[in-house]
This record gives sequence, structure tokens and C-alpha cells, in this order.
Amino acid sequence: MRVRFAPSPTGFLHIGGARTFLFNWLYARQHKGEVVLRIDDTDLERSTDASLRTILEGLEWLELAWDEQHYQSQRRERHALAAEALLAKGAAYRDFTPASGPDDDKASDAPDGKRKAWLSNPGQRELSREESDRRAAAGEPFVLRFRTPHELDGGVAFKDLVYGKQFRKFADLEDFALVRSDGAPTYHLASCVDDVELRISHIIRGQDHLTNTFKHIQLFEALSGSHPQLGHLPLLLGPDGSKLSKRRHGPIVSVVNYRDAGFLPQAFINFMALLGWSPKGNQEVLSQQELEAKFDVSGILRTNAVVQFDETSADNWAPPKAVWLNGQHLRSMPVEQLMRYVKPELEKAGWWKPEFDGAEREKILATVDAIRSRYTLLSDFSLRAKAYFSDEFEIEDKAVENLNKEGARDGLRALADRLEALPQFNHDTVEEALRSLADERGVKPGLLINGARAALSGQSVGPSAFEVFELIGKDKTVARLRAV
Ligand code: GLU
Repeated sequence: MRVRFAPSPTGFLHIGGARTFLFNWLYARQHKGEVVLRIDDTDLERSTDASLRTILEGLEWLELAWDEQHYQSQRRERHALAAEALLAKGAAYRDFTPASGPDDDKASDAPDGKRKAWLSNPGQRELSREESDRRAAAGEPFVLRFRTPHELDGGVAFKDLVYGKQFRKFADLEDFALVRSDGAPTYHLASCVDDVELRISHIIRGQDHLTNTFKHIQLFEALSGSHPQLGHLPLLLGPDGSKLSKRRHGPIVSVVNYRDAGFLPQAFINFMALLGWSPKGNQEVLSQQELEAKFDVSGILRTNAVVQFDETSADNWAPPKAVWLNGQHLRSMPVEQLMRYVKPELEKAGWWKPEFDGAEREKILATVDAIRSRYTLLSDFSLRAKAYFSDEFEIEDKAVENLNKEGARDGLRALADRLEALPQFNHDTVEEALRSLADERGVKPGLLINGARAALSGQSVGPSAFEVFELIGKDKTVARLRAV
């Protein structure tokens, strides 16, 4: 099995594209197959380096490695040779009235009535080979078209991996362009030639390509005598029921926005996997290994997938389900693995110290493990965890309220003295010291516990306070309690 993902570098990496890549990837991994990344950059005018970079960045962020990478623009010669061969065997013909018909890939999007008019090009299909060669040699511009066998009754049939049996009559398929009048191959030609020559066995792509597939199957047959297996994926829609687009739906559509907002690739992958696929047993939180094991093309739904999110809130654009899944992954993945993503976050915040990779590694892992229980996004580590990594942190308003309670500050200063004198400083000894101090002073332990949490972490909520003492350590604890 060899699959491919073939983005055109004419924009950003769309969530729909990333999902196509993911489904291909999972399908190939399951069958010990290979994944080819093919950059469809034949449209030199619309392809840009910036776009290519964001697409690659997005794909790399997902950490789903591919086995081969090809650039379609480097295969122009192959496309030209294939076009010649198709012309030579009569599967294609020159149309010297380029303006009269579909000159590019958009043909399939033309309204039906319009397409019918181009279906075949009377007079052009029938030109003798001699006349065609002569006019071409004289420099007359032409479009090379595929010769759909309109004279035959039948049509193109295939079994879609997802949607099952498909059929379209020849009479409804136009003589689509293979080479434009400027000599550039169309998407149809370049894509099919490359699919054949790169030995792609399975093509999985968006349902919006279904119309193309009827053309491609004919072209594959003409090029190689057979065709890869094809499957189409349900579309992704916004809550308003329209196809997900940046213009209509904003940041939700672009993959790198999830990275920048502090999503874990594993969680984002889990989120995408559930867009149009449903695992047996309905388990929603799936690790990558589980996804690899459970993914099944027969579980791909035939109905379009709606991405739910709040369309009115630009600040809070992320789909709640994606955020929820992120929290689940963030809390359950091995802490060493999570640390790979937390480190850049702390570096960005300027709190990372080399010791964290050395002598203090265990301590940092324990800290991350404790504080993650209340976090959902990686950005929480830089937004909410400063006190654990730096001495210059602020105490949030709600936490200040806990310090302002009657008897809190005095109590915490007394607690500092007690803790300083402890021969052993850990969760249990601190708890005992705090509770007996509260007793002696006739205050509730909660007053000191909440006050200490505020003084040590700057926050009113967080992991168990006694855990916080241990994570912050004796010296800093004493200093912070005194500083209240
Ligand atoms: N470059 C095409 C696209 O981005 C590839 C479609 C296909 O998978 O054949 O739509």
C-alpha cells in the first residue's frame, strides 16, 4: 500500500487537508504501507514558498512522519511525455479553440448547463491527425483534451472505499483538459501521471474531488491500464452548515493556529480523527497508538462532519471539543512526553533553566505532573504556572482575598518559622506542622492552607496545597510565606 497526500501550496494548511493527511497516514500505517507527500506546485503563479512553509510546518507539528516527498513541478517532463503518449494513442486530442472550453481544473465546478456545452468539442475531436499535427507545428495554440468515449453507452464505475458503488455516464463527463494552451499540465494530468509513476495504490481525498475521480479513472486506465483504489472523505462543515472556510469560519480552519494556541499534536489528531470517523465502542479519547490500532476505513461516515464552535467569539475560537480533548491528553500522557511540549512553552516565557534538563529534572517533572491536573492547553504553563518556575510572580486577585482574611498573614508568618525549624520538609511533616499551628492559634486549617497556596503559587486554586509546599521547596516556601 502506498498512499499520498497532495497539497497545493497556494494557501495555509486547512484542517480538512490535515484530516485527509491523517486518514491516509493511519490507513497506511495499519497496512504497513508507505506515505508519500506530494507538493502539487504545478500552478506556478499561485504556488508560493510561504504557503509551502506553513504547510510543511503544520504537517511537521503533527509528528506524523512521511516516507517520501516529491515536488510536482520537478516532474514536468514526465507530464509532457505522458501527454504525448496519450495523444499518440488517440486517448487525447488537440482542441484549437481553447477559449471555447474548459481550459483548467475548474471545469468540473462549472454549472451543469455550461459544462454540457463543452462536453465534447465538435469539429475538434474529429480533426485528422495530419491536420492536427500541421496546425500545432504552425504554432497555433491548443488545449490538449482527454477523449471521453461519448460514442459509448456506458460510463465510469468504481467502488469507493467509503461511499461504495459509484457510476457516472460518459455522456455526463466532458472532454477535460490535460494540457493548457500555455503548455502547462492541468491538475488532472499531473496528478494522475504522478499517482501512476509514484505507484500510489490508494487515493483518499475529500469528497469535493469525486467529480474529478470519474475523469481520473479514465485517465488512469489510459495511462496504465488500471487505477488505484479510491475513497472520498465527508466534508467538514461549520455550525452554519457551510463548507469550512477561512473567510467564513476564521482561525478554526488553519492548523498552525492550534499549535500556536497551545494544543498538543496528539490531541489535535484525536480531534481530527473524530471528524467523519467514529471508532467502534465510541471511545472518544484516543492515544495515537489506539488510533493506529482502531482506525478503520469502514468506520468513516458518509455524512458530512460539523465542527462545533462559537462563531461569534474571536478570542475563544477553538472548538470546545478540541479543547476538552487537549485537557484529556495533557493530563494523561506520560509526563516525560508532555515535557517535550512544556519546555518550549517555558523557554518562550523565559523561565527555562539548563538545570531543568539536568539536576532538577525530577523536580520539574513532578511539578509539571502536579500542576497539569488543572490545565487544558500548553499555554496554561506559561500563563498560570510562573510561581513554580520563577520568583517574580504576581498574586492573582482571588488569591489576595485569601491573604486578606483575618489572621491569615500573621498565621503564615508563624507558619514560616515553624517550617523553617522542621528537620524534614515534606508533604506529611508540613501538613502536621500546619494543622497543629492552626489548632494552637484557634483558626481553621483552611485559612492557612488557602493563604499558603496564595503566597506560594499566586493562585487560589491548584494542586493539593501540601504538594505545592513540597514542589516549591523549603527555602522558597519560608521566604514566600514571610513576604506576605
Ligand atoms: N492538490 C490537490 C488539492 O489540493 C490534490 C487533490 C488530490 O488529492 O488529488 O486539492
